[in-house]
Amino acid sequence: MVSSNGLATTQPLFSFGLISDVQYADIPDGRSFLGVPRYYKHSILVLRRAVKEWNTHQKHKFAINFGDIVDGFCPKDQSLGTIKKLVDEFEMFRGGPVHHIIGNHCLYNLPRSELLPLLKIKTLDGRAYYDFSPVPEYRFVVLDGYDISAIGWPKDHPKTLEALKILREKNPNENKNSPINMEGLERRFLMFNGAIGKEQMKWLDDVLLEATKLKQKVVICCHLPLDPGAASEKGLLWNYDEVMNLIHKYNCVKVCLAGHYHRGGYSIDSHGIHHRVLEAALECPPGTDAFGYIDVYDDRISLVGTDRMKSTEMHFTPPS
Ligand SMILES: [Zn+2]
Repeated sequence: MVSSNGLATTQPLFSFGLISDVQYADIPDGRSFLGVPRYYKHSILVLRRAVKEWNTHQKHKFAINFGDIVDGFCPKDQSLGTIKKLVDEFEMFRGGPVHHIIGNHCLYNLPRSELLPLLKIKTLDGRAYYDFSPVPEYRFVVLDGYDISAIGWPKDHPKTLEALKILREKNPNENKNSPINMEGLERRFLMFNGAIGKEQMKWLDDVLLEATKLKQKVVICCHLPLDPGAASEKGLLWNYDEVMNLIHKYNCVKVCLAGHYHRGGYSIDSHGIHHRVLEAALECPPGTDAFGYIDVYDDRISLVGTDRMKSTEMHFTPPS
């Protein structure tokens, strides 16, 4: 973009807010399986401060919640009310729509049939993938990482059965959330992860083809990380490799954003695509924060993080 005085301007095309893994529950603080402290009650305050900050900027076009809005330990008789309360906090955002992504913890609380309407995900047959284009130059693709999953679908649903079959084949443990006796990248075959099914893969292919024709740049958003360089192998999408092979057929995807792996991470893959996994709101000790916003330009996107969420400049590599 060039201004009237001939100097290049640094105005972003647009910007949006982001936060991940709020995992709120009205229960005492606890620890993860690995002993990392979790501040279940404080995380709603992080969300509240995020929305306040986004509103102060008055420039963000929308916001994205990267999943796990509620924690699995939330007492089940409170699931509905708690998710409503969290959605209401997001609704305080005045800049535009909030796009929600589902995570495993959301699905521990409610089945898809109840969860999706609450999160205003207007898709058919329990699907939770969709896309939107905030400006003609960009498209956001939200993937449903729990499409093939042992959680969230009815027990006898074909997708539940497909997921259980994968877990039986890949994970030798009685407890399918345990990676014991599993090696390297195979350790992703845990029950709290999932996969993209055939129908969603076809849809993704169609969307990327259309985006290419329209010369749009694409940002992929998924609760589960898609690159081993940006997260622990224990947090990856089961078929991240298939999904990335498809994405690598095109040049339109510039950035993949994810949550789920609470420490956060960043990598650039072999095709120059940036992978940024966001630090969790849940793990912020009282008084600290983890949220941010992204300024989107023609040639880069710039994540401006608050406090524990690190800032990351992501310059696009021109296709070779
Ligand atoms: Zn998760």
